[in-house]
Amino acid sequence: MPRSVRPRTERLRTGALLVRRVPFGEADLLVGLFTEQGGLISATARGARRSAKRFPALEPMHLLRVTLEIRPGAELAQLTEAAIERPRLRLAADLGRLEVAGRALRWVREIAPAHTAEQAAWSELNQLLDRLDEVSTPPPQALLAETGLRLLVAFGWGLELTQCVRCGRACDTTQSACADPARGGLVCRACGGGPVVLRPEPRERLLAAMLGGAPIPEEDVPLALDLVEGALTAHASGN
Ligand SMILES: [Zn+2]
Repeated sequence: MPRSVRPRTERLRTGALLVRRVPFGEADLLVGLFTEQGGLISATARGARRSAKRFPALEPMHLLRVTLEIRPGAELAQLTEAAIERPRLRLAADLGRLEVAGRALRWVREIAPAHTAEQAAWSELNQLLDRLDEVSTPPPQALLAETGLRLLVAFGWGLELTQCVRCGRACDTTQSACADPARGGLVCRACGGGPVVLRPEPRERLLAAMLGGAPIPEEDVPLALDLVEGALTAHASGN
């Protein structure tokens, strides 16, 4: 009877987005990939710096198709193939759009759990990148704010904007309310309140954007981004 069975290396072929690339060893790259089927995966790309021909597709923003070899227990997977499945050339050529896309990729890199498929987050992120690649897009910051609110929902951290997260008391829809994004949404005054004041109309609009995909008007964008950043920072530090 064999005393031990060698753990089998799993081969994963999946859609992927490049979220990180850093030099590794003498000629390799360490890459972070947010993948459709395996979530966030760190991998080495051997020889990627010695020859650009080895992995010509290792660029951010484009939808990639990669093959990874994942050894059980190993911290790093090995990237064996990468090809561009859907290029996003308009996005890649526009600084304003690139900045917005880069911020969304960073969010996902910081909060996605390793080796866990996150279908909803995968769709949200790719939808954002596709829209940023269209000929004419809504203001990129507004798209980013919308995506941020929905990424929170996708990761199970959707902001509670209708009642206090502490005591559950419903918020009066005609009154301003306090929110603490780090605590997940509205916090009534009796429960200590929060640093962000939400007037009834913007609160309604953000709720519609978060749950129904309504566009966020430009005047609400800074507020929405504050809430998203506040919530993401709290979750990222908990990782
Ligand atoms: Zn309360």
